Amino acid sequence: MHSTDAIIEARRQAEVCNACRYCEGYCAVFPALERRRAFTNSDIAYLANLCHNCKGCYYACQYAPPHAFAVNFPKVLAEVRHETYAAYAWPRAFAGVFERNGVIVSLAAAIIVTVVLVGVGWLQDPDVIFGIHTQPGAFYAVIPWSVMGGLSAVVFLYSMLALVMGFVNFWRDTGGRASELADITPLAQTASDVLSLRHLGGGGHGCNDRDESFSTLRRWLHHATFYGFMICFASTGTAWFYDTFLNWMAPYPITSLPVVLGCVGGIGLIIGTAGLFWLKLVSDQEPTSRRLLGADVALLMLLGTISFSGFLLLGLRATPAMGTLLALHVGLVLAFFVVIPYSKFVHGVYRAAALLRNRLELRNSTAPQRVLPAKPADKGETAEIFSASAK
Ligand code: SF4
Ligand code: SF4
Repeated sequence: MHSTDAIIEARRQAEVCNACRYCEGYCAVFPALERRRAFTNSDIAYLANLCHNCKGCYYACQYAPPHAFAVNFPKVLAEVRHETYAAYAWPRAFAGVFERNGVIVSLAAAIIVTVVLVGVGWLQDPDVIFGIHTQPGAFYAVIPWSVMGGLSAVVFLYSMLALVMGFVNFWRDTGGRASELADITPLAQTASDVLSLRHLGGGGHGCNDRDESFSTLRRWLHHATFYGFMICFASTGTAWFYDTFLNWMAPYPITSLPVVLGCVGGIGLIIGTAGLFWLKLVSDQEPTSRRLLGADVALLMLLGTISFSGFLLLGLRATPAMGTLLALHVGLVLAFFVVIPYSKFVHGVYRAAALLRNRLELRNSTAPQRVLPAKPADKGETAEIFSASAK
């Protein structure tokens, strides 16, 4: 990771924090910071992705603006985080996509959806597109299975490869070794951290989602989005299994597993993305970076629109609108999988990698470690202190 203005500023602020140490019980970032005497660019990249942007240290900081030290750690770490997405992107030629990411992701999605809609309109008979199809295999009458499945498989595999390569780039740059990835205990601990979003719980009291007050709303909205996405993915996987191995073709009955999973996941996605978007609008802008806003909004809008188009397709699948809605939904899903390695979606990959690095550091450290944040009211008194060896 090369030096940038944001990295230099984050290093300055990290050095102030390392001298102050008031926030050492707030999150995993400060203990990780205290394990270092100096900060390389890669250290700063790691700390930036370990930060879950709770903003607690900003509201606690006696050196925040207008103090001359001008410490605003959440904001500067968010800026570095944004730069790491470009620095670790694969292939490197696409790193520039993270500049003006919101515009580029939205444009790419719009172009892909248009190409699918125009392609279906051009290649398919209008009687088929606007006909009423309710029999098993009705969707494939509009878009053949070989085209829908083949295109999705190619795009999905490419995106997974790009995300894995991004992880490898981060891991190498922050000093990780391949052998560490076979260590089961830290891997299991990291999986638990990710699946429970433990750090967004702030040790029970939550984060400063909107302002100085604490709440767990952001954590629950993240849960709704993450698990909504995973349940939708399970719905698609079940439909693929039915089609490939049982020869049961879509559309499926309302009570079938793919439809039930799709509805539950879709509701979760709509609630999660709408709530996170609302939080972005109403939260205090001081400890946030405006550079990330476009990327955040573009991803949330894309996920929300996919869910909404899925429900429209479900509700109108027995009408002449089915063909157009199917093309729209398939286009949106395809667009999503094309853009994910170059969208805000990558934050999940790098945060998981940073959490794994943190777990490995905790295990290898001989110093007593705070592994749970302290409550703000009695910081330092109720923080649970565990020795690294005990974990
Ligand atoms: S954020 Fe402020 S109060 Fe917290 S450790 Fe850094 S300098 Fe100290
Ligand atoms: S914003 Fe929250 S997670 Fe990030 S460094 Fe500050 S206290 Fe830690």
